[in-house]
Amino acid sequence: MSEISRKQKYLLDKFGRRMYPPDFFIHRFFELLEEKPDEEPLDPKWRDIWNRYKRHLLEKFSSEIIAEIEEKIQSIEVVDEEIWEIKVNEDAKITFLLGAGASAPSGIPTVDKLLPELWKRAKKIGREDLDKLADWCNDRGITNIEDLLTAAYISNFAAKNPSITALLDYFIFSGGQEFLEEEFTISRHRKIRSSEIDVSSISFLQDTLQTLFGLLTSTMISASPNSTHRAIVDFIKDHKNTSIITTNYDGCMDEALLKEKIILKGTISGENENNPDAVQLIKMHGSINWAYCDSCQDVREFDLLKLKEIYEDDILSYPVLGICKKCGGLRRPLLVPPLSFKFLMFPNLIDIWNSARQAIDEADYLIIVGYSFSEADTYITKIISRSMSIKNRQKMIIVNTNPNLVPTLRERFSAHIDGFDKKRVLKICKSCDETLPEILGSILGKKAPKKTQKSARKKSGG
Ligand SMILES: [Zn+2]
Repeated sequence: MSEISRKQKYLLDKFGRRMYPPDFFIHRFFELLEEKPDEEPLDPKWRDIWNRYKRHLLEKFSSEIIAEIEEKIQSIEVVDEEIWEIKVNEDAKITFLLGAGASAPSGIPTVDKLLPELWKRAKKIGREDLDKLADWCNDRGITNIEDLLTAAYISNFAAKNPSITALLDYFIFSGGQEFLEEEFTISRHRKIRSSEIDVSSISFLQDTLQTLFGLLTSTMISASPNSTHRAIVDFIKDHKNTSIITTNYDGCMDEALLKEKIILKGTISGENENNPDAVQLIKMHGSINWAYCDSCQDVREFDLLKLKEIYEDDILSYPVLGICKKCGGLRRPLLVPPLSFKFLMFPNLIDIWNSARQAIDEADYLIIVGYSFSEADTYITKIISRSMSIKNRQKMIIVNTNPNLVPTLRERFSAHIDGFDKKRVLKICKSCDETLPEILGSILGKKAPKKTQKSARKKSGG
């Protein structure tokens, strides 16, 4: 596997954080070059580190040594050259897939940082029950918000369906088997707890969920689009045959489109489906401005820009979560953790997932921005693998700062697709807000390619 070793990660972290004496840097860097296998790539972050050290090294080391390192650093491939050759005609279908990395420059914590951020906010509002939950999670190393949401959803679902709770108990705790002496007390305790569901624990769960959603929404609602979102909007103005899929709950992409008066379709409201000018924005995991009623299952989409305004101006006591107009029950934001069985729990979203699959299947180019192909999100990974194997001229452009991602994907596709051409997966290993405007401009043939190679112009219009 062509992955970054622990040693390289350690050194990146060390030299990335502070300046050390130049000879120490040289010593450790050469040691790494000698030890690492050829297939292990150098992380693009070495470029920045090198640029910081270079000046100090010039005074102390011979130009041969400097040149040797310089060559290594220059060989770190950050952007695949082939990307500058891509030019699309108007028939080409482009599908963007955005993940947490696309929203990170807008100040939204990525999945791994979201839960710690929520606990910090919970502390501020002084909720003892949440602090307790935070301690419990921290003690067990539970740091992923998706895990927490998944557990809360399953519990909520099971609490309303006692027969499912009993079955869960049977499957997970072997409820039907005889227990060993020492296991008996614990198992019996579990059996009692699940067969007689405590009403107060359900309301605690409901209350916890509601508060968590409030906190989650508060981390996202104030965020504004960054240059990634704006670059996509600019692209769409010139290239109508485009769909956007996002796994983000935040409203950054929506806001960037709406502010340019672009009409959206593919949302939970089902509006504008037949409007030929509307652009498909598929929010696979829900959205902070979508709500559903826990009691009557009614689903609603609220005006995102208005919602933001109400929140910023602080003019309503309950601007984000609300009361269902149909039944008076409590509305919750429609946010979905990447569960593999989400179909079962969120039937309202089936149409949305189907249209995502279709947008991926139809794409000539999949431009995947800040999406990490997480293990939990098997659905998206599966439909992408399927479309890449069926449609053999489909290409992917991966914009992601993780240098391991593209090598891993290439290996995965090679294992599943006969004669897979690795150059169907192209990489841009840089922050998306820095690179996407230029790349998308180049794809449209609007800006001069950065690398002015002759080959870059050969295929224009194709
Ligand atoms: Zn209702």
